[in-house]
Amino acid sequence: MPRVSSTIDGYLWCDTCRRSYRHGETEDGHCPVCHTDTRPIGKYQAIVRGLMSNELATPEIYTKHRQIIRMIWTRNGMGEQYYRALGPDLSYNRFEARVTELLCRGAREGWVRFVMPAAPLTDEYAYKVEFDDETRFIDELEREFAADVQTTPNT
Ligand SMILES: [Zn+2]
Repeated sequence: MPRVSSTIDGYLWCDTCRRSYRHGETEDGHCPVCHTDTRPIGKYQAIVRGLMSNELATPEIYTKHRQIIRMIWTRNGMGEQYYRALGPDLSYNRFEARVTELLCRGAREGWVRFVMPAAPLTDEYAYKVEFDDETRFIDELEREFAADVQTTPNT
């Protein structure tokens, strides 16, 4: 017999990707594409928002490119290492998404480079992240996550 529950029989909206998912399509409420938190919305809202954002929809090639960037910087447990070192007050998935966004900005601004082989290779070390200035990355990380510390209420 199929499991029926009104709490999970809804739609979840991802603000980053501007699209909705059924609960089963998410990863514990996280967007399967960008891994940020999704939020529940009603069925009609999901349909209307979906129609409105159709023109604004993120092209698949953009999300795939972002996924590759995420895979490169988190490789070999590096993502978890940064997470443990910084100890930010947010989930690992959210952390990973924020750092990926930060690195995408770094690449746009030119202080981070993602190096990829000309053709796909099975040697994952051919895919790497390079920093012109590693202290810039550390400063940016601190700035990104310092805000979380400041918003923690004093008791
Ligand atoms: Zn998303």
